[in-house]
Amino acid sequence: MIRVNENYQKLQSSYLFSEISKRIADFQKENPDTPIIKMGIGDVTLPLPKVCLEAFHKAVDELGNAATFRGYGPEQGYGFLREKIAEVDFQKRGADIAADEIFVSDGAKCDSGNIQELFADDIVIAVPDPVYPVYVDSNVMAGRTGSFTDGRYANLVYLESTPGNNFVPDLPNQKVDLIYLCFPNNPTGATISKDVLKKWVEYAKENNALIIYDAAYVQFIRDPSLPHSIFEIKGAREVAIELRSYSKTAGFTGTRCAYTVIPKDCFIYTSTGEKIQLHGLWNRRQTTKFNGVSYPVQRAAEAVYSAAGQKEIKELADYYLENAKLIRETFTSLGFACTGGENSPYIWVQTNTDSWEFFNTLLYKAQVVTTPGSGFGKCGEGFLRVSAFNSRENVKKALASITAVPGKK
Ligand SMILES: *Cc1c(COP(=O)(O)O)cnc(C)c1O
Repeated sequence: MIRVNENYQKLQSSYLFSEISKRIADFQKENPDTPIIKMGIGDVTLPLPKVCLEAFHKAVDELGNAATFRGYGPEQGYGFLREKIAEVDFQKRGADIAADEIFVSDGAKCDSGNIQELFADDIVIAVPDPVYPVYVDSNVMAGRTGSFTDGRYANLVYLESTPGNNFVPDLPNQKVDLIYLCFPNNPTGATISKDVLKKWVEYAKENNALIIYDAAYVQFIRDPSLPHSIFEIKGAREVAIELRSYSKTAGFTGTRCAYTVIPKDCFIYTSTGEKIQLHGLWNRRQTTKFNGVSYPVQRAAEAVYSAAGQKEIKELADYYLENAKLIRETFTSLGFACTGGENSPYIWVQTNTDSWEFFNTLLYKAQVVTTPGSGFGKCGEGFLRVSAFNSRENVKKALASITAVPGKK
């Protein structure tokens, strides 16, 4: 008998986006002619940078010519891209990362899920609350979480992000083995300082733990004092890996390209305490299960590192950051406390009411779709995530209708 992986039965949260779609559908059934504006999405809206598009086209043409055709590429990514990444994203910022420590992939989402197969089943995992749901659900699928009761999985350690800690969680007060951190954060938009990140690196060293640092939103950082990479922190090479993606950085959500940094100094342990190099394990995994990102996509990603590419991706992020500023200003002027929207495309609005109730108010009274914070975890109750990924025109329209809603607070 072919049997199911029963861990899948413990999953909860596909509930969030399906419930949003259902509520939109209900609204539109009752109000078929009323247009709505979606400010809940975590997907970019502006097209690819021109330099990326040109490089993409050129590489496609190369594949159509016998003299320049390429078949399977290196599973770890082409040298031309890995070298640019190491130089521009890390070495230029004082982070000691070499090209052969970069693994190019088709997404940070896949990498964050796939990396877990290198870890034992019974490790203790710390996840932020609220959280990017992928970290939790992929561990549920792997059977590491226990069952779900009262909004929480039994075996996870939750790192609470609340107004009390400015949405930067405190160190766990127990020993954990794997820690997920994401800054600038999705969903809260919060950022972490170098001093605080240093404490996490020290904790990981003391506990022989590993940090998975998700820097998918690094391109939105404007405050020069904030770390762009965990590898700007001394000692992080031994206890951290970092996820990066061109999705939010360069509009690649549909094009698909990302990378994971695994320093050669990073070790994990056998039950008897023997040290195993994580880099070698991941290389073994990737060469067995992955055949690399398509050549034209890697050429498009490489173009990000040209002078014109750097200028274009800065302008892309600036556009969304201006939207974010308008969103933050509007909600603040309406009397709501907000986090994010600076150094981040997300604004985390404290509504102090039931998240779904507030979601409904904005849908029915302003025809604006947001994301209820409770969908990201227990600590998200009483919050709303508003996304700046939209056109300026839509953002202005949405904010005008939200401002016109009577009795919002
Ligand atoms: C969007 C996002 C990513 C990027 O995922 P890709 O698979 O590279 O598109 C990674 N982490 C977080 C927290 C995100 O919001």
